Amino acid sequence: MESYDVVIVGLGPTGGTLANLLALNGLSVLILEREKSIYNLPRAVHFDDEVMRVFESIGISKSLSRNIIINKGTKFVNAQNEVVLDWPRPRSITDNGWYPSYRFHQPNLERLLRRRLNDFKKVSIRRSTQVVKIMNSDSHVETTIEDKKTNKIYLIKSSYVVGCDGAGSITREEMGHKLENLGFTQKWAVVDLVLKKDKKELADRTIQYANSERPATYCRNVGKRRRWEFAIHDHENETEILSDKYIWNFLKPWLLPHEAELERKTIYTFQSAIAKRWRAGRVFIVGDAAHLMPPFMGQGMCSGIRDASNLAWKINLCLKNNHNEKLLDTYQSERFSNVEEYIQTTMRMGEFVNDIGASKITSNIVKGPDGAMSMKSIQPKLGSGLGVNSDKNRGKVFPQLVMKNGNKLDLSFTGLPVLLLAEELKDINVTSKIKCFYESQIPGLSKVLRNYKAKAVIVRPDRFVLETCSSINELNDFVKNKLNELNIL
Ligand SMILES: Cc1cc2nc3c(=O)[nH]c(=O)nc-3n(C[C@H](O)[C@H](O)[C@H](O)COP(=O)(O)OP(=O)(O)OC[C@H]3O[C@@H](n4cnc5c(N)ncnc54)[C@H](O)[C@@H]3O)c2cc1C
Repeated sequence: MESYDVVIVGLGPTGGTLANLLALNGLSVLILEREKSIYNLPRAVHFDDEVMRVFESIGISKSLSRNIIINKGTKFVNAQNEVVLDWPRPRSITDNGWYPSYRFHQPNLERLLRRRLNDFKKVSIRRSTQVVKIMNSDSHVETTIEDKKTNKIYLIKSSYVVGCDGAGSITREEMGHKLENLGFTQKWAVVDLVLKKDKKELADRTIQYANSERPATYCRNVGKRRRWEFAIHDHENETEILSDKYIWNFLKPWLLPHEAELERKTIYTFQSAIAKRWRAGRVFIVGDAAHLMPPFMGQGMCSGIRDASNLAWKINLCLKNNHNEKLLDTYQSERFSNVEEYIQTTMRMGEFVNDIGASKITSNIVKGPDGAMSMKSIQPKLGSGLGVNSDKNRGKVFPQLVMKNGNKLDLSFTGLPVLLLAEELKDINVTSKIKCFYESQIPGLSKVLRNYKAKAVIVRPDRFVLETCSSINELNDFVKNKLNELNIL
């Protein structure tokens, strides 16, 4: 029987990201994808700085940067076309070392993720192949797959299986779990267009048309691509709504038929849902297989990428050392509340856009200088899991720092945490198990340590703070007792 470290079910953005992260750690990975080729039209059009940092660690941020734009933010307007809420995305670099928000073309991202996978000898991709059964045992997993071209059935053995197989996930089904509806379900038409000529009058940011009659969204996408989305009421006829006549009539205030090519028109059901369990033994679900949210904040795919980043290094440690149930349990406990906050915020935004909810989408909305209300992006911390919950720095994103030699500190990360220390701890023999860096090697570290009120910070491979230590005793305790808990033997 063929055997791999990890089998990944589904090669969408989540599966492609996870496969790359695992491959970077030298693991053997088999990716099974039902479709023959990439779906050539975008669903997601936005990602954020945290996600770009993950793409950077994979090594695709440079190529990706050639075909993205910095997103300026979102304005919400009411039925009278008055701005009722602003959600600006500052044009400045964040702690993650990137701009807060980008617009991209999803097929381009998926191509880059796949191209990068070609660099790893221990990665195999099997297209036109679907998973039909998954059998979990204490020591390994057996996955039954069907080659759709020949109808032949094969059995694959692996240490772990990760379902990145989207909303209709067979992995989730095989685990015996369902997506639980969290309350938002609404049909929306999605219309993608490519401009035939410049249209400077079109906004260069997202506009949410908040009203109960025809809630709608306009997105300024990459290059000449533009998107309109609008809600469909239950009594409306979907075939009629998707007719060219109806679509061009809807677009009349902004575009005329000779000004753009209609690339795609379709109807999606926007919904909010989450699975209660994301792991059963050696089998996991990640991305849309584990949770769904309406796209008002552009965070569905981003959440899947965050899941992949959280899980990849934990699976790596389990394969390099020992299978560790406690460590693997922290995948869901850390990610669940983070995703839930995005889902709940997105649902409130959806209600606001439908003019049935208050403008209090987040707790950080303030009156701007022009009198309009202004909202900031949310940054939920990780849920409880690794590290000590009383450490108030734990679970925060660690900033992307630059080393004295000009390299980004991120480039020094491998599959293990790193220890960053105040200069005064230089003569102390801490540990040889993980990489250590000192203030003198990283100009920005002193400021970060001061902000954290710490002498040392342990940063996880996914760039989150694992723990901060304010004394040598605390640091010794971490090195003696907690590296084992982390499966670092
Ligand atoms: C209109 C719209 C706009 C959106 N905008 C944004 C946005 O701007 N930003 C954002 O972050 N998110 C956005 N989203 C959400 C985003 O598109 C999804 O969250 C994301 O695509 C999910 O990625 P995934 O890899 O988890 O799942 P998918 O993309 O669904 O990939 C799953 C893969 O698994 C394969 N598969 C399924 N079953 C099997 C099987 N049995 N065997 C083998 N393979 C299988 C499928 O063929 C597919 O390739 C949007 C969604 C919609 C609908």
